[in-house]
Amino acid sequence: MSIHEALRKSGDQVSPARDDRVSPARDDSVRKGEHTLRVDWPACKAHGVCAEILPEVVSLDQWGFPIVSGAVTDDVLEMARAAVKACPTLALRLIQPPRRP
Ligand code: SF4
Repeated sequence: MSIHEALRKSGDQVSPARDDRVSPARDDSVRKGEHTLRVDWPACKAHGVCAEILPEVVSLDQWGFPIVSGAVTDDVLEMARAAVKACPTLALRLIQPPRRP
């Protein structure tokens, strides 16, 4: 069973309050938009955990480095947070959409 399948079956999702990289207050204000993932390339060591957890958004190139395609939609947002937390080198960040006036 892959990490992705295990997380989905366990229901072990990361709440905004448990994710120290996304403040709950800011998270409430961004549900209207779409989040994106950003890779810190010098920090990324091609472990591939992110693609296992979030295959809807992340695939791997031939060397195992992530290819992020598109925005993180609401239906995979919790898995994106789990991918960020699971990255062993803290190379993955979830970027919140800009606030609307
Ligand atoms: S889990 Fe982290 S280190 Fe591994 S490929 Fe993804 S971003 Fe890079």
